[in-house]
Amino acid sequence: MSELQAPVTSLKGVGEALALKLARLRLDTVADLLFHLPLRYQDRTRLTPMGGLRAGQEAVVEGDVMACDIVKGRRRSLLVRLRDGSGILSLRFFHFSPAQQQQFTPGTRIRAFGEARAGATGLEIYHPEYRLAGAAAPAVEEHFTPIYPTTEGLHQSRLRALVQQALRRLESHPEELPELLPVALRERFHLPQLGDSLHLLHQPPPDTDLAQLAEGRHPATRRLALEELLAHQLSLREVRRRIQADGAPPLPSGRGLQARFLTQLPFALTGAQRRVLEEIAHDLSRPAPMLRLVQGDVGSGKTVVAAMAALAALAGDCQAAIMAPTEILAEQHYRSFKAWFEPLGVDVAWLSGKLKGKQRLDAKAAIADGRARMVVGTHALFQEDVHFQRLGLAIIDEQHRFGVHQRLALREKGQAGGLTPHQLIMTATPIPRTLAMSAYADLDVSVIDELPPGRTPVKTVVVPDERRPEVVERIRRACREGRQAYWVCTLIEESEALQYQAAEATREELAEALPELAIGLVHGRMKSAEKAEIMTAFKAGELDLLVATTVIEVGVDVPNASLMIIENPERLGLSQLHQLRGRVGRGDTESFCVLLYHPPLSAGSRQRLGVMRETTDGFRIAEKDLEIRGPGEVLGTRQTGLAQMKVADLERDADLLEQVSALARAMLEQAPEAAPTLIRRWLGEEAGRYGQV
Ligand code: ADP
Ligand code: MG
Repeated sequence: MSELQAPVTSLKGVGEALALKLARLRLDTVADLLFHLPLRYQDRTRLTPMGGLRAGQEAVVEGDVMACDIVKGRRRSLLVRLRDGSGILSLRFFHFSPAQQQQFTPGTRIRAFGEARAGATGLEIYHPEYRLAGAAAPAVEEHFTPIYPTTEGLHQSRLRALVQQALRRLESHPEELPELLPVALRERFHLPQLGDSLHLLHQPPPDTDLAQLAEGRHPATRRLALEELLAHQLSLREVRRRIQADGAPPLPSGRGLQARFLTQLPFALTGAQRRVLEEIAHDLSRPAPMLRLVQGDVGSGKTVVAAMAALAALAGDCQAAIMAPTEILAEQHYRSFKAWFEPLGVDVAWLSGKLKGKQRLDAKAAIADGRARMVVGTHALFQEDVHFQRLGLAIIDEQHRFGVHQRLALREKGQAGGLTPHQLIMTATPIPRTLAMSAYADLDVSVIDELPPGRTPVKTVVVPDERRPEVVERIRRACREGRQAYWVCTLIEESEALQYQAAEATREELAEALPELAIGLVHGRMKSAEKAEIMTAFKAGELDLLVATTVIEVGVDVPNASLMIIENPERLGLSQLHQLRGRVGRGDTESFCVLLYHPPLSAGSRQRLGVMRETTDGFRIAEKDLEIRGPGEVLGTRQTGLAQMKVADLERDADLLEQVSALARAMLEQAPEAAPTLIRRWLGEEAGRYGQV
């Protein structure tokens, strides 16, 4: 076994007990220690004169004891006064032993380290590290002192010593951690070598710019960040390559079925829909699985695009499945697909987690023996016990967080026939291009950048909640004119039970104020059948006003609804508000969105609500959201894997991120053999296993 890949127990002084503690930090091998980077540094490289010390500063000081007393403040403490000629400083101990007290006889020279703070006697250090500084006291440290992320029972000094051992092993076996970034690339970005970077980060020499290190702008940090981003990018590309190495059923064209479907639609496709469909058709006609993400703002008509793609699969003698993230949405798709496909002679099957007993067994049997051609459901569809006869196309709606692992799992769904299904992922969350290229390097991206004609943009007003009565009147007027309205309660209560109570209270209050209206309520605690019933009634116009918690968020389509009130919108992110607002403005009447906030608004909230008032363009809103919340939040990085990054920071390293896609391509051309090593270095064996699925 190689020296760096050897387990930590191969280091001096590491037994089972310590190895277990290290395992808690995911430090299993010597190399893991090398990549366990400090959180921050202390400067113990020089003595700081007491006179020059500031509150908040961590420093080494040295001085003579002037006095040592037990003082009784709110808490009893030992106070040691020191002076060094430039000034005076106190050390304060809340826990101390008589022996300790005796050490501090006046005139004794003490060296101490700690953070200075403003205390009762001027600058003080609470519980400093200290020692008697006799003539033989060693000099200060040669390097800045790293502070590592650690775990209970594992001291910094212990961890530091282990990293030092690991560094020495690296010095004697540099060939085991080869430099994988091409020279030209390192030169272009002025980046140091890998080994040098690790050395510098674990033991920065005293001339290192600590501020630069702290902010992650040091070339050594940037070098590692770039390599890590590159590793992620390469692993996503590898996933893509592996999936596409499998066969998929080529689905050349479903012209007949598609044409019949189009003639029965009450509208013509938009140019953007047609263009995206061409891109999809091109992918489907190939014998390798499509991996395509379709981004389209709310209301841009993604469902019809999904239906057209599904028809290609059906015409190619395959099954197609569409999965939605919530029961409400899945049921809505079920109804649309039934209405669209049954006239074409295609049966549509339904499967959700809530379907139980015989119905569930029947649905699964029909999916397995191929009687069910078009299948609609929630993620229950892609669970292990569901087998498809011949799944040609898997469509995942409103789920940009559908991750790499699920994509790999889907690969197995079609594998009965030795084929992997084509994958179409649809999202209304537009993602700026550079981010998309990093987060979705395994996907091709299409954009529906046009709304169907005749839509008037939703007018948005921002109103304080003392004007609630006016808003209620507005609902009355809209409904009197035959239109419908949503009232969305955004509740902070964690529990669904409390959310339900609050939404119910709103419904009652509105029912009292608007006795002539039929009012429904949907919330997360309802059974899906109940929810569906209410949604159907609302869609059919039997309800005038729908009070809802944010379960209504995605995809629900009721064109006659032209007014939406969002209560306490300041609690929601921009993208979520945009999604909610997208429920109105789907018909040809002018629609309104009232953001009913609770004053006072913070400056940030005011800014966000202002953005909502100014624009209905999903891409602009996404960009603002990105500015305000940062890429981690916007992307939902947990699923994309970008969250577990050790060094890189999507925001801080945005300029590197922009380069990564091109770099990965160049690297695969020039040094393809380096890619697997790089992936394993940063993502571990697990990522290496992607290929073996
Ligand atoms: P989203 O992209 O948000 O999923 P939907 O697929 O739910 O949007 O479509 C929103 C509404 O627009 C639906 O009522 C749908 O029937 C309608 N629609 C879709 N495409 C067109 C079009 N080309 N012309 C007119 N209406 C369309
Ligand atoms: Mg949709």
